[in-house]
Amino acid sequence: MRVLILGGTTEASAIARTLAGDARFDAVLSLAGRTAAPAAQPIRVRTGGFGGAQGLAGYLRSERIGALIDATHPFAARMKVNAAQAAALTRVPRLAVLRPEWRPATGDRWRQVASMEEAAAALGTAPRRVFLAIGRQELAPFGPPHAYLVRSVDPPDPATLPQGARVVLARGPFDEAAETDLLRAHAIEIVVAKNAGGAATEAKLSAARRQGLTVVMVRRPPPPAPPIVPDAEAAVAWLAAHAVTGEAERGA
Ligand code: NAP
Repeated sequence: MRVLILGGTTEASAIARTLAGDARFDAVLSLAGRTAAPAAQPIRVRTGGFGGAQGLAGYLRSERIGALIDATHPFAARMKVNAAQAAALTRVPRLAVLRPEWRPATGDRWRQVASMEEAAAALGTAPRRVFLAIGRQELAPFGPPHAYLVRSVDPPDPATLPQGARVVLARGPFDEAAETDLLRAHAIEIVVAKNAGGAATEAKLSAARRQGLTVVMVRRPPPPAPPIVPDAEAAVAWLAAHAVTGEAERGA
């Protein structure tokens, strides 16, 4: 069965690794193309947008895709809607993989907001030292009077980088000791994060908790339509069930 995995996440890469060794599947991983040097993959990779839901539907048809796994990032809202629409248009079975969101633990000082603009406003008017752990695509709302530390995989566009911001280029996973050192070295007072969930980037939250720092947490966009599973393992089990169904239908 031909499988299209919409990726750019840990889960998509884990599914790709499992399917690479399974003769029942011929899988291709799709990336948006945002990262300059994405991690190597054991299956075929295609890069770049499809041209909306219609474009994706066309790809599903022309490539004879038998199942679509939407394992995009929890904040990739547009692609999730496109995936659901394209699957409905083509009747290709679709599954969304959505890791559980982070929840505040005892000792956390979270301020939950709905958007990056609200996050910027939540920093207040007094100058603070702020760690922007939000990637490089959504820096525009952040400006004076704060001192920013920005972490991203690729260098941010200087046009959207807040004036005077320091940049750390790094790719997760991150551990708590390193996150603690980073927060201390830059005398950070507030952490801004997106509620991505997952273990790879969670350590900044426990490091902030230990230091009693405020975390401005941007809530997720609405989840995609069901069916949804929380991890790669469940996605592979769903695929295996669909591969069996497909074989039975072809044999009938
Ligand atoms: P988005 O706003 O939902 O998508 C914008 C457009 O990018 C889509 O309409 C689609 O273009 C294209 N696209 C997105 N994911 C794609 C994929 N896997 N393969 C091919 N085209 C894709 O998404 P985003 O927030 O910009 O995220 C882009 C990618 O980065 C996603 O694959 C996501 O998993 C990954 N990522 C995002 C975040 C985040 O915080 N947003 C964090 C880590 C990784 P067309 O309409 O032309 O098809």
